[in-house]
Amino acid sequence: MSKKHHYSYNHIHTLLAGAVASLKSVPDVLVPISGGGLIPARILRTLLKAKFGKTVPIKVIGLQLYDDDTETILESGVKRTQWPREHDWDPELKSVLLVDEVDDTRTTLQYAVESLRKDFGPEVKINVFVVHDKQKEKRGTLPADVEYIAALKVEDVWIAYPWDAIDIDEHQKIADEQRVIDAALVASPW
Ligand code: 5GP
Repeated sequence: MSKKHHYSYNHIHTLLAGAVASLKSVPDVLVPISGGGLIPARILRTLLKAKFGKTVPIKVIGLQLYDDDTETILESGVKRTQWPREHDWDPELKSVLLVDEVDDTRTTLQYAVESLRKDFGPEVKINVFVVHDKQKEKRGTLPADVEYIAALKVEDVWIAYPWDAIDIDEHQKIADEQRVIDAALVASPW
């Protein structure tokens, strides 16, 4: 099997729907980490509205760990590319759902949770939602009171997301083939 796993929009939507079905409460705000968390957060908003009847606002934060040109980790560590100012947040805020597409080393999530906690103080509950959680030793950690939801646990391989595709038909074709292989592997007892 290819060491790059392709996921289609439909597959991601279905994974998110499954995860939302198990949610017991609706957050006051969705906070996607730009750019990977943007599309999952927008889909989540639709699914949360359907389940809880509430349109949850989205407030974007921007963080960068990798240099897109060199594809290496930034020497300076996580860099803020966008961050709301104090008056941008709803003063009545009680709960935040931080959203990202993938938890790889957990460095970005740790930075985001620590920073939001500094901004809000302990009275705002911060939870984390990711589409994919890579099963590997993590470099970052999250506080014990942070609820963590991953729509799917996956092995430690590179995930190709549809929003990164140049040719979406080719991406969809590979994603469909890999999904068939995944399903066959799950179904097989050996
Ligand atoms: P971290 O190592 O801090 O958990 O992940 C940092 C960021 O690296 C993620 O938010 C994501 O943008 C990117 N990243 C890590 N692994 C993958 C992957 O397998 N596929 C893609 N497309 N991005 C990844």
